[in-house]
Amino acid sequence: MGTPLETLGPCLSICHECDLLNEVPPLPPDGCARCGRCGHILFRNPANCVDKTLALTISALLLWIVANVFPFLSFGMPGNLVRTNLVSGVVSLYEQGQTILSIVVLITSIIAPALQIAGLLYVLVPLSRGRRLPSARRTMRWLGHVKPWSMMEVFLLGILVSMVKLGGMADVIPGVALWAFCFLIVVLSWALSTLEPRVLWEQLDRAERVGRPAN
Ligand SMILES: [Zn+2]
Repeated sequence: MGTPLETLGPCLSICHECDLLNEVPPLPPDGCARCGRCGHILFRNPANCVDKTLALTISALLLWIVANVFPFLSFGMPGNLVRTNLVSGVVSLYEQGQTILSIVVLITSIIAPALQIAGLLYVLVPLSRGRRLPSARRTMRWLGHVKPWSMMEVFLLGILVSMVKLGGMADVIPGVALWAFCFLIVVLSWALSTLEPRVLWEQLDRAERVGRPAN
């Protein structure tokens, strides 16, 4: 009989604090492996880790859609308000000759979060059913390269500074997409922090064995 899906198998783990090579026994759900010498936490096994991350990723997807479809900001004089959304803001920057800035905003605030969400869904949806799609491991490694390009909080900070500066000259009204964007930053960061790499990689290994034809 195999190891239950949520129990991490035995392994060797090096402590990052004192460099001791620890022999870690099977870890039950919500268990925590500690270094035998200094007590440093080697890794955890949070229960339902994949399902929790998947739920947060689906929430992030919905927030990303709202943030890109609905008005982001309305500004102007009373009776003559101009609405803008994320994509039209990027197009406006491009039309004003700010080509590089428009590309940076497009990549860091729209494309990179979308790639992160798509990559997580590609790996986690089948994994929650004990399966693994082709290139799932490569997708997880590739997500690590995309993460530094997701800088939504920097973009949001710029928007807030602009709102404060423009507030004295014109009406600036935040739209529903701005609130969705704020929640998207929190939820996507939460999803990525909930995902315990060791749990994910072990479940990917088991999913691969489940999918392999018996011989
Ligand atoms: Zn240690």
